[in-house]
Amino acid sequence: MVRTYRNARLHHRPARTAQAQASGITIKTPAEREAMRRAGQVVALVLERLGKALEPGMRTRDLDALAAQVIREAGARPAFLGYRGFPAVVCVSLNEEIVHGIPGERVIQEGDLVKIDAGAVVDGMYADAARSFPVGKVSPSVKALVEVTRNALEVGIGQARPGGSVGDIGYAIQRYVEDRGYAVVREYVGHGIGRNLHEEPAVPNYGVPGDGPRLLPGMAIAIEPMVNIGTYWTRVLDDGWTVVTADGSLSAHFEDTLIITEDGREVVTRYNGK
Ligand code: MG
Repeated sequence: MVRTYRNARLHHRPARTAQAQASGITIKTPAEREAMRRAGQVVALVLERLGKALEPGMRTRDLDALAAQVIREAGARPAFLGYRGFPAVVCVSLNEEIVHGIPGERVIQEGDLVKIDAGAVVDGMYADAARSFPVGKVSPSVKALVEVTRNALEVGIGQARPGGSVGDIGYAIQRYVEDRGYAVVREYVGHGIGRNLHEEPAVPNYGVPGDGPRLLPGMAIAIEPMVNIGTYWTRVLDDGWTVVTADGSLSAHFEDTLIITEDGREVVTRYNGK
């Protein structure tokens, strides 16, 4: 899930733990990191299972039911259900829908681009991740968009290291995406994560190198590029949740939760941590 970010602005913060905590950024204890790893493995499993189950003819609520089952069987709790009133376990967003689609009666068709965003809680600690799945045979433009967005997440993760800044991540993602002729969404951003789904700092997919809060070992963030073929402007549907591209163009979304380590980062929402 993403944070709303209507007043885009980065903050300068010195690289000191006390300062980081004063700004609302938390440093996770070893026990908290371990719980986040366990939550992350549940999220990885949900995304794997839903990705394999996806096929034309399914309703989006079928994916939600499967996610609920996988999370329950893993002994975890769904992170999104009831969050600010969100009525489902996962977000399922199709085609021009960017994020926060509500699973329901809609039938998935061959050629759709389905974005699934999942979150889980273990021992009070959150993990959050998303993948974009082309269904069946899709157009070359869909394939290219998915590839660029997946790579943009890798580029962002590569900038997540102690001593780096949130601006380094945003800059790298924006540069990578815009150099290829696509747009990064501005009005929704990645976020800190831990005891809450959304914590400080905001992690925009755009920015200036060296700008924004410094990254320290033990911080946890969710990086989540949302990439559009057309404009970066968005609007929200009448359901109050579903965010779509303002021009109806296609959008893709990839997200992982990671913990900053002494020498880089650990991606908790993947099986291998990388
Ligand atoms: Mg998120």
